[in-house]
Amino acid sequence: MILRNIFTDYECTQCGKGQGRDVEYIEWEISKHGEKHFLSEMIECKCGNKFNRYEGIIESFVSDNIYSKWRAFCDITLAGEANITIGKQCKIVIPKQLLISKIFLTNIEGFASLAPEFYSHIETDSFNIVSSEVNSEGSSDPSNYKKIGENHKVDWFLFGKSGDKPVETWLLLLTQASEQILHGQYNIAILTSEMMFESFLDDSLNKQLISKGLSKEASYTILESMRSIYDKAHKLLKDLTGQGLQSAGKGKNSINAEWQELVRVRNKIAHGEQVEELNKEKAEWALRTALKAIFFIYINSLTD
Ligand SMILES: [Zn+2]
Repeated sequence: MILRNIFTDYECTQCGKGQGRDVEYIEWEISKHGEKHFLSEMIECKCGNKFNRYEGIIESFVSDNIYSKWRAFCDITLAGEANITIGKQCKIVIPKQLLISKIFLTNIEGFASLAPEFYSHIETDSFNIVSSEVNSEGSSDPSNYKKIGENHKVDWFLFGKSGDKPVETWLLLLTQASEQILHGQYNIAILTSEMMFESFLDDSLNKQLISKGLSKEASYTILESMRSIYDKAHKLLKDLTGQGLQSAGKGKNSINAEWQELVRVRNKIAHGEQVEELNKEKAEWALRTALKAIFFIYINSLTD
């Protein structure tokens, strides 16, 4: 079962208009109709475009909406407003101890930023905001910034984990690939996207092998001894589930053909060769392709 958190947002595959629901609603929908039905549901956008819900979920991950990625593996979100005095550290106390993954600040009237010490692997119930004499964008144009001792308000939004829920590796890689795209590291994002797919595939094959009665050690030995990713995605996956990636998508819309192209590009980058048109579009295509292959395997594994 994939974390329900990642199903909350979707965006139209044509116009990019999106929708988001909370996890409780998603749980309710799935319990009523079944997960396979939920993910394959046909959605019609106001622009006239029709797409499957899972395609819209993928689109929200590929878009610049970094929030949907953090929401994917953080089970706690908190928001608030802080009253900042320029030059003073402001301590924000949150209601319970948790692992803070990410905090976003929205500066409106003045400038503030996070004090770095909250980045720890220890559960905490507070974080600190610091401020200085610059304007809300952080520029030191003297005409419009707040001075030492003056006040301004800052909105904060926090993503955190309660600490008892392990996060699957592929989801961590998904967040990383998205951030790499935002930061213009397109070649690394392509490597990460394929790594994300391979991590998901290995995990799925491992679960399948164990469900067929193999020990953890035996499953590990089999997966470790297979050197070819094609053997895993085509042969072994087909043997275990009845459908390998080769049957993903039809005609021109073949997920498998796109994925094989992704492996080709990934190998070129990994071997230091020149890749044609290595831009944001290409990195987004790589992430979308890896996610389509993941969802094909996942939906195929569902029985309801
Ligand atoms: Zn649309």
